[in-house]
Amino acid sequence: MITPNLAPWQPTQWQSELSSAFRRPEELLAFLDTQRPDVDAANQFSMLVPKSFAKRMRPGDPRDPLLLQVLPVQCEALHVDGFSDDPLGEADEDLGFAVAPGLIRKYRSRALMITTPGCAINCRYCFRRHFPYQEHRPKSHAQALAAIAADAQITEVILSGGDPLLLNDRALAELLREICTIEHVKRIRLHSRIPVVLPSRVTEDLLDTLNQQTCDIVMVIHCNHAQELDAQTAQALALIHATGTVLLNQSVLLQGINDDAAILCELSESLFDQGVMPYYLHMPDRVKGTSHFFVEDERAVGLHHQMQSQLSGYLVPRLVREVAGASSKVIVRG
Ligand SMILES: *Cc1c(COP(=O)(O)O)cnc(C)c1O
Ligand code: SF4
Repeated sequence: MITPNLAPWQPTQWQSELSSAFRRPEELLAFLDTQRPDVDAANQFSMLVPKSFAKRMRPGDPRDPLLLQVLPVQCEALHVDGFSDDPLGEADEDLGFAVAPGLIRKYRSRALMITTPGCAINCRYCFRRHFPYQEHRPKSHAQALAAIAADAQITEVILSGGDPLLLNDRALAELLREICTIEHVKRIRLHSRIPVVLPSRVTEDLLDTLNQQTCDIVMVIHCNHAQELDAQTAQALALIHATGTVLLNQSVLLQGINDDAAILCELSESLFDQGVMPYYLHMPDRVKGTSHFFVEDERAVGLHHQMQSQLSGYLVPRLVREVAGASSKVIVRG
């Protein structure tokens, strides 16, 4: 692992990279010198791909595993029985998960804050692609913070989104500081795909913010394929690691992208090389528009067994799924 001292990116570089991200499928395909007759440029869940991520795709390969994660295609419009907008009932307030504006409480010891509706990339398989973020987007975090402060069972606050690293440095520093002042909160966890898809977001200011917190910080990144990791992510992750932040990864098991034991093993090894421990391998949810990524339980368990036989135990992520109403993520077993 390399250990740089200073972030090599200009403080505002990530914002300009984000504004010049690919938003039109034709442009991305032209950049990659490839074609897909099934592209769907009018898809409601629009395409968003930063160039730094597109550069890790293989030119000329219409089935590149990174391209397949982000390119809108026509089969998303298929209606498949059993696939719905909100299979987890997250948007259904009757289920009582939203305990304050922008605060979701499913599990006893941790509460999840929706910090911003946006992401730096739009992943086609995303289980939140239909989530009504605008309705849940809090005008301020005051009520969420008050709800956390009022409940001593909450020992960990998860910042999610969208992607919490899309907040600017000042807003993020302020939010972390406010959470850390709540006495019973021991840890803050950031769930972010940004260190992988937009490494230039790892600015000196962000590193200072991570360094300055009084509670422990855990960052769960999201990477599905070793090809997503390159020299830039290595640098970004090493810098985050050096702040004392614990780095974990979650992946989604995706047909045609990483549903192969060798690919999953290589992912675990590459993550470790970049200072990240595998945490979860999620079963895809039955979200409308994502049925082409779906992997059946039996195959998933078989792949997981193969990983176990090939990897050091600590490099095997837990194979899990969400089950509405369960008290935690549920381990998938054969
Ligand atoms: C996944 C999730 C968590 C975190 O669960 P862990 O098993 O601790 O990683 C917390 N809250 C919500 C709403 C979640 O979806
Ligand atoms: S970064 Fe995460 S939340 Fe955002 S679109 Fe991708 S999977 Fe969904």
